[in-house]
Amino acid sequence: MALKPLDIFKYLPKTNCKECGFPTCLAFAMQVAIGKVELTKCPYVSEEGKKQLEAESAPPIKTITVGNKEKINLGGETVLYRHEKTFYNPTGIGVLIKEDMSDEEIDNEIKNLIEFKYERVGLVLKGEFIGIEDKNLGKFINIVEKSFNTGKNLILISDNIENLKKAVDICKEVRPIIFSMNISEHLINLAKENQLPIIIRGNSFEEITKNVEQVQNKGIEDIIIYPENKEISELFKNVIYIRRGAILKRIRSVGFPILIIPEFLTDDYLKEGIYAGIFVAKYGSIVLLSKIRGEVLFPLLIERLNIYTDPQRPMTTTEGIYEIGKPNENSPVFVTTNFSLTYFIVSGEIENSKVPSYLLIQDTEGLSVLTAWAADKFNAETIANLVKKTKIGEKLNKKVLIIPGVVAQIYGELQEALPEWKIVLGPREAAHIPSFLKNVEI
Ligand code: SF4
Repeated sequence: MALKPLDIFKYLPKTNCKECGFPTCLAFAMQVAIGKVELTKCPYVSEEGKKQLEAESAPPIKTITVGNKEKINLGGETVLYRHEKTFYNPTGIGVLIKEDMSDEEIDNEIKNLIEFKYERVGLVLKGEFIGIEDKNLGKFINIVEKSFNTGKNLILISDNIENLKKAVDICKEVRPIIFSMNISEHLINLAKENQLPIIIRGNSFEEITKNVEQVQNKGIEDIIIYPENKEISELFKNVIYIRRGAILKRIRSVGFPILIIPEFLTDDYLKEGIYAGIFVAKYGSIVLLSKIRGEVLFPLLIERLNIYTDPQRPMTTTEGIYEIGKPNENSPVFVTTNFSLTYFIVSGEIENSKVPSYLLIQDTEGLSVLTAWAADKFNAETIANLVKKTKIGEKLNKKVLIIPGVVAQIYGELQEALPEWKIVLGPREAAHIPSFLKNVEI
């Protein structure tokens, strides 16, 4: 969290000695606050002052990184509401495998977690976590081995410290999160020796802060909070208290990512999915489902994509030439903007038309066609420049450039700017591209 100049100023000696290159300590503090100068430029800040400033400038919710192949950051959020800034680290979604499940069920859940993935706007959406719960039936280690081989991130849940140690030995390279009801010295040592995050449970805000402070006092810094309420209203209330406590009151003992296991709230799998959705939106850093099924996983992944997309920055596609089908020297060239949704809709419709084509994408800073045209970022001049810059004409015998129908106004000017090209006015809606290509002679 950004510090204010006066927060920094109070730790400076106020001698105005100018050694930092600034005329006064306050001027120096102002530059440090906006990130232009490092605090170390003043040689007179005490060690205590440095520590204090570091602590005060740390994000209110700690960022914890786990995983190896599928590295994921948990926590690290700075606001209560997404519209205030953005949410940074998407909720990790996964499945909780219990040792008393049949071997077939276990294999199925692991397989589903790996296989259920969806491509949307150029991103692969999928679950990332496997929680494994030991029930002292002798299969725990075997499930850990199987789960480790998937490359997914792991949460090891066991009250048997020997089993936990064996499990950690198998999978420590993915930095598993460990969870035991029994916070013993052995558990603390296991977490410390392997630098692993540890889950701390509690029924209420008070119990959670007390339990977290206990392990913090033993030198554990990476903590995940697990509010273990069995009623949705209680759980929701506690999660909100935790987030508000961390962000608004800067209570350090609740400034950690939160684990949610909605299956303990209901026996109904679809209801569990709804509860999971509540905590994807409201502050769950990890949500573990009882099983992985498309009808629940897919909406959660889409919800997560929406919630964790920066509302102030549109999603964009890289400027350049995209080949759809196998275009040749007689294929038409479409042009549009780099707003991701525009790109995916237009490219999808060209693909549907089965006419191999080139798609030229212009960087309009993520604006859609009409908005970019209104902002003068998508006009005859910018398109002509892009055509020249990409040298797409060199790939073609027949130079046909199809522009979106909604920018018919630029037709004449563009034809003048690109005299060797035939400019064609395309349909106003991308959905009409297949019929357009069928009916219009290019
Ligand atoms: S070097 Fe330190 S004490 Fe000297 S003016 Fe700069 S901030 Fe103040």
